[in-house]
Amino acid sequence: MRHCRYGLRLTLVLGAGMVLGACTGSGWTDRERMIISLSDSVMFVTTLPQDSVQLRTPSIDVGPRELQSDELKTLMAKMLRTVTDPSQDGVGIAAPQVGINRRIIWVQRLDKEDEPFECYVNIHIDSLYGGTRRGPEGCLSVPGYRGMVTRSNNVIISYSDLESGNTVKEEIEGYTAVIFQHECDHLDGILYVDRADTVYINQAWMEELKQFDYTRPDWW
Ligand code: ZN
Repeated sequence: MRHCRYGLRLTLVLGAGMVLGACTGSGWTDRERMIISLSDSVMFVTTLPQDSVQLRTPSIDVGPRELQSDELKTLMAKMLRTVTDPSQDGVGIAAPQVGINRRIIWVQRLDKEDEPFECYVNIHIDSLYGGTRRGPEGCLSVPGYRGMVTRSNNVIISYSDLESGNTVKEEIEGYTAVIFQHECDHLDGILYVDRADTVYINQAWMEELKQFDYTRPDWW
């Protein structure tokens, strides 16, 4: 998900993940090992339309034996460098956006002090609730566009603890919950433009920003 540069955190980028044998996960493929080891610390970001196959392919879990692998550690570090690079300025990124169809995302926890980026492996959204909110989103994989998307206010996520392998559940609310929904959509091959009721290109987006009421208490 991309940061908005108007003093506002309009971010969007995300994904959602799907299964395909994802219950048990599997080991790294030769192709995945090559992408992880050979890519620069700031990875190539897949974009529409040229990388549509990669972006539309559902992602699978990381296997239990790979949770502490060097490949996962390297991939996580490079994804973080990529989403925080000034050229991207994102608040979230999903593994398919760097060419890896695994259920791995980084999310900037805007709901926590100091707003740290945190990584979630084998993440799934268990439930959506608490009503909905409509707001602008953008995506590192759909450069130059923004769109208005309706999302749930609250999510319950589950993911793998990297040390124990145990499943951890967590409840997220507010705008950070929107980031999780956007990123987890990526893991299911879904892009925000699929959900947007309106999509804008640059100038049109600027006009929309002027009209959007960011003072609404339900926005953040
Ligand atoms: Zn995105």
